[in-house]
Amino acid sequence: MPPTTHAQWLDLAARLLPSVGHLIDGADDRGTGGLFPLVSPRDGQVFAEVADATPADAERAVAAARRAFDAGPWPRLSPTERGRVLQRLADLVEEHRTELALLVSLEMGKPVTEAYDIELRAVINTLRYYGELAGKLADEAPRTAPDALALVTREPVGVVAAIVPWNFPLTLAAWKIAPALASGCTVVLKPSEQTPLSALRLGRLAMEAGLPDGVLNVIAGRGPATGQALGLHPDVDVVAFTGSTAVGRCYLRYAADSNLKRVWLELGGKSPNIILPDAPDLRAAAATAAWGIFFNAGEMCTAPSRLLVHSSIADLVVDTVVERARTLRIGDPLDPDTEMGPIATARQLESILGHIAGAHQDGARLHTGGSPLLDRAGFYLQPTVFDQVTGDMRLARDEVFGPVLAVHTFDTVEEAVALANNSVYGLAAGLWTSDLSTAHQVSRQLRVGTVWVNCYEEGDLSVPFGGYKQSGNGRDKSAHALEKFTELKTTWIQL
Ligand code: NAD
Repeated sequence: MPPTTHAQWLDLAARLLPSVGHLIDGADDRGTGGLFPLVSPRDGQVFAEVADATPADAERAVAAARRAFDAGPWPRLSPTERGRVLQRLADLVEEHRTELALLVSLEMGKPVTEAYDIELRAVINTLRYYGELAGKLADEAPRTAPDALALVTREPVGVVAAIVPWNFPLTLAAWKIAPALASGCTVVLKPSEQTPLSALRLGRLAMEAGLPDGVLNVIAGRGPATGQALGLHPDVDVVAFTGSTAVGRCYLRYAADSNLKRVWLELGGKSPNIILPDAPDLRAAAATAAWGIFFNAGEMCTAPSRLLVHSSIADLVVDTVVERARTLRIGDPLDPDTEMGPIATARQLESILGHIAGAHQDGARLHTGGSPLLDRAGFYLQPTVFDQVTGDMRLARDEVFGPVLAVHTFDTVEEAVALANNSVYGLAAGLWTSDLSTAHQVSRQLRVGTVWVNCYEEGDLSVPFGGYKQSGNGRDKSAHALEKFTELKTTWIQL
């Protein structure tokens, strides 16, 4: 059972003072770059140190993954055997769930109860899903002329560099690692410089679960140095990246400048949430709109950061959202009563404040929030709501990645769809209506990867996740994710 009080979580955190090296070729590896300090957003204090990978460390990690792929047992095991190792890893994550949740919360400020309940549940479910799926897939034998046999088989694509951000550090790592390992690939995982400890712990648990040396390597390092070394490396066959659209572009360039490795991108968003007057329950729609933008301090790629509300119901909806913003319990993420923790880094807080200043300059009206909480150490921000936002304002276009809502009003469904699609992003959208035809018609017109009707952020491992337009390509989760980590081979046999 996890701790249930603030005091118990603080006590556990005080006893957890890691100083950690990389995981390369199955061994603890201090690397060649010294250590760098990790600052917790909950109090702005250094709470741990971690090895700082250099391009030379990245080189050794790729070499280990290459050897493990070219000559090691992992790609040659039966898929069922690989699935068993993933299931054992899921068991170990369950066993160490409290410790992993605490690391995530200390690293990036998510309320520890959400880290335990939501993030770790997602990691366990992901490992179990691909653990089970691994041995249940079949290849194809298309019907050809009687004197030939054609086999269409999927083979592991090789060495995968998995590069992930800090907002869901373990879930997003699991969404890459689990399907890659199930497919028989070997992996170098580079977590964000903000969240290396949880990823390194996951890597060590994978070794305990029976993963052969070199199959999963984890290097803690800063993006521009370590990420670039992986992106340019000729022995990396695939980059599976989640992060900002700007850095996603870098990986496309790295691939173009090196070996044309496959680059899969899960990028940013500016998701619209459309509330029509015939929503089945307007208060529930408004409560979900508020929950969606303030959950995880708004640091969600799918955050419903543009609320598009019909003008006839705008007052009711906005009042409900503003009321929620004013009553949210903001505080120490290690306190189980906290509903919204700090912003993950001082830099991210500064960036969000820049977006808020831009919204003021562009003429949006501030309803609530807009300022940092200066009465405490750490990187805390008031939940913020702007209305009278128009499509040309920066707040309507730019991803803020924080608890800042932009409210637009509209009068017709056509206007709502045009507003919704007026974005370079296309990750997700919400739609609230009681009319089945409207739900289908609007959903078909929205240029996004996921449409949630009368709900938001719902999902299951069996459904794919990913974006249209500059929100990326390819899909995480579901059987479709395996396509990223396998090559299709045709073998034609003349009989
Ligand atoms: P980021 O793009 O700054 O960093 C992501 C990763 O790239 C990190 O591991 C970082 O070290 C590395 N990196 C940074 N600069 C690099 C460079 N020049 N070369 C190579 N690697 C580099 O993103 P972030 O701030 O960690 O996360 C927030 C972003 O992630 C937001 O834009 C958010 O929308 C996006 N995100 C997308 C999804 C999705 O599934 N679509 C999910 C979560 C987050």
